[in-house]
Amino acid sequence: MSGEQPISTVDIICDLRQFQTDVDNIGTMQEIWQQLGDQIPGHQLLPGQPLTMHLQKGNLLLWVVDAHGLKQVEPDTPFRIIDLLRSPKLLYRCRVCDEYGPLRCTECEKAGRETRLCSAHAHTIKNELKAYCVEHIPRCECRSSCNEKATFRCRRCHKLYGDHVHRYHPHDNNVDYCQLCYRILFERCSHPDCRNLGRSKCAFQTREMKDPCGKPLCAEHSYQWKIWGAHNRGVTLCEHHKNSLRCTDPADLLFMMLIAKAPFVHRGKLHSLPNPFRLRRIINRNRMSGLSFDQISYAINSMGNQVSNWGRRAEGNYRFLSKTFNETTRGLSNTEETLLAQVKAIYQNASGWDAAQQITGLEITDRFFKPGQQPRYRVNLYLVSNANKGLLIGRGGSAIKQVSQSLNIEIDLRINP
Ligand SMILES: [Zn+2]
Ligand SMILES: [Zn+2]
Ligand SMILES: [Zn+2]
Ligand SMILES: [Zn+2]
Ligand SMILES: [Zn+2]
Ligand SMILES: [Zn+2]
Repeated sequence: MSGEQPISTVDIICDLRQFQTDVDNIGTMQEIWQQLGDQIPGHQLLPGQPLTMHLQKGNLLLWVVDAHGLKQVEPDTPFRIIDLLRSPKLLYRCRVCDEYGPLRCTECEKAGRETRLCSAHAHTIKNELKAYCVEHIPRCECRSSCNEKATFRCRRCHKLYGDHVHRYHPHDNNVDYCQLCYRILFERCSHPDCRNLGRSKCAFQTREMKDPCGKPLCAEHSYQWKIWGAHNRGVTLCEHHKNSLRCTDPADLLFMMLIAKAPFVHRGKLHSLPNPFRLRRIINRNRMSGLSFDQISYAINSMGNQVSNWGRRAEGNYRFLSKTFNETTRGLSNTEETLLAQVKAIYQNASGWDAAQQITGLEITDRFFKPGQQPRYRVNLYLVSNANKGLLIGRGGSAIKQVSQSLNIEIDLRINP
């Protein structure tokens, strides 16, 4: 055989997947090829086995597709690159780890920024398609302002919450509720033998208790502490706590009034707390020894520096309560002393010394206003004993009527406390 044999090319696929430079034009490829220099000659050409070239920027693998009969690379062996293998170019990289980031932070997007995240570094809410970056993770909306990350949305109230208040639907793990809604929807009345739903919860709470009693109660087994008047709903209580009001620290009763959510009077306007006279009656109801205005005043004023811990509603209520209470009780004991002296003087004149001697004290229990008139007081008039009550009432009630009319007061006779 003689003559020049046609020089065979070696057809290869050039594998750049372990190589760090992006190759997207022929010039770059040629530069890389030049770096190979004399690394290639001498390599065996085995089918199915790549030639591995080590370069600064990584490894270059040359897969032989067709060597056209050649067994080994010679210095003048021409190569023909018939294809390139490249890593997919990552257009979207996670801001945190630089890996593929298919998700976008919803809040950053609203602000006109694009923050890409991988699934490991995006925060998501269960059953929702939105993703959040670490700065925009929504917070739990529970009442304790826990500031935990929100992880689910309540099916009933539609607010976002953290795991600590999560409850499943009793028969469906795909439906999530916050603890509060769960209890409203599914809890049974805590009264023994009652099978009704316990939608009302006992709201009894002292300043030391982190949460209210919370016993679930049906309408039949719940009680209302009527602090907003007889015709409005009150604060819901269980039987035990209804009975314990009379021996609860008055400051805790005040605390419950301050944090309670009032019913609406009419659209947009909430019922205000009781006036000082009514407030005092509510606190003293069934109490062994009733509190004076001064004692209640003291309790109210000593709460002043705690109120800011109890939320904005409590702060608003407290401002109202301390203002009305201090306005009303200022000078009240002077008025009581004056009235007592006047009552005694009238009895002395009308019914004699014996009658006047029966009176030991006077206490204002209520005050009524009519426009353009002096306030009318209701008073307890305290007596030494029951025995001589008749002296003060007078024949057919004439004596007490005279005193009431001349002083513009209503009198309740009481035995000395
Ligand atoms: Zn990531
Ligand atoms: Zn964000
Ligand atoms: Zn929370
Ligand atoms: Zn809820
Ligand atoms: Zn019940
Ligand atoms: Zn209770």
